[in-house]
Amino acid sequence: MIEVLFMELKEDRYELQGIPVTELAEKYGLPLYVYDTAIIERQYHKLVSAFSVKNLTINYACKALSNISILRFLRSLGAHADTVSLGEIHLCLKAGFKPEEIVFTPSAVSIEEYKMAMDIGVGINIDNLETLGYFADHKINYPICVRINPHIMAGGNKKISTGHIDSKFGISIHQLDAILELMDSAGLNIEGVHMHTGSDILDVEVFLQATDILFKAAAHFPDLNYIDFGSGFKVKYKPEDVETDIALFGREMSRKFNDFCAKRGKDLTLMFEPGKFIVSESGTFLAKTNIIKHSPSNLFAGLDTGFNHLIRPMFYEAYHEIVNISNPNGDKKYYSVVGYICETDNFAWNRPIPEIRVDDIIAFKNAGAYCFQMSSNYNSRVRPAEVMIYKGKDYLIREREDLTDILRHQTDPVHFS
Ligand SMILES: *Cc1c(COP(=O)(O)O)cnc(C)c1O
Repeated sequence: MIEVLFMELKEDRYELQGIPVTELAEKYGLPLYVYDTAIIERQYHKLVSAFSVKNLTINYACKALSNISILRFLRSLGAHADTVSLGEIHLCLKAGFKPEEIVFTPSAVSIEEYKMAMDIGVGINIDNLETLGYFADHKINYPICVRINPHIMAGGNKKISTGHIDSKFGISIHQLDAILELMDSAGLNIEGVHMHTGSDILDVEVFLQATDILFKAAAHFPDLNYIDFGSGFKVKYKPEDVETDIALFGREMSRKFNDFCAKRGKDLTLMFEPGKFIVSESGTFLAKTNIIKHSPSNLFAGLDTGFNHLIRPMFYEAYHEIVNISNPNGDKKYYSVVGYICETDNFAWNRPIPEIRVDDIIAFKNAGAYCFQMSSNYNSRVRPAEVMIYKGKDYLIREREDLTDILRHQTDPVHFS
């Protein structure tokens, strides 16, 4: 396989699959999200080829980036879909996924939402004893998966870690007996067990410890067809970051999984549901510089965007590498890169970046996962356009919004005199 690089600097200009970034900015306007499908494909194959098991399914966690073109592309690669809402289920159906290729893994949703998902025929994943109790009381024998919380504290920070003891996610491993009792007394049809410890797992050892807990729990369920180990695969945000060692993890995990299947005398399916690992690096967010502002303590680069378009730096203190597309070889200065929203929306504090001038195009790397998807209309500003690059060609996959979108669904019923 050819190594596909993230945005390449060719002499003095940045390119995405051979297309100059400045050309994309000119053609579609700014701010703009651009996704490179070659990177998505590279990541998908990196993951798939790491495992040597008979049955492997990658359920793409579509909340990371759910543009329908991206969903269709992932389906063409062979991915299935992990969804967290009915809206995502319908999007996936529209993108061509069959119900049996979709898993519904919500948190704290109503029984009605589960029922609607079952009517569609998707796989469902239950993360609380109360809903399991409802299934038992109503003798519902739809095949289900149970989400178990192994209580391994992992993840970049408490906002994204979902495996710790206070987390709202999953059924505590300490309540395993209660699950088994419901299963035995009511004949619940449990076909899968699942865990998802949270994002950003650095250490393969920590991950493997958690999988041991799930394997041990899985041994109690006689009718399993699959075990789903969620996600948590880390990608590089800074050059010095470590990415989850997928090859190492794949080897260890395959060994454990094949042992489990051998003991059981049945080839189960090994499942994962990555979002960030698949799409993070594929995305680049482009914005224009509105103003360079000097203060006694800071040099600000103010952009024509803000946390309405990219909230991860403010919400998670996430680091996104920032590149000056217009001046790649300029002398570096220390910039606080800020948005135009009336909140403290710093993308970066005192970051060394080649000199930024008014109208320069600024790029944020790793803008594929949880970036556009978390955007909003705050400050009555419109959401940016999205472009997909596929086989060296660029395609508009979402139009830029306009004022009509801000007013859509407002009814304005009273006419004040
Ligand atoms: C969000 C989510 C994922 C994806 O997590 P990433 O860190 O993006 O890989 C997987 N599974 C579940 C249940 C999720 O909620």
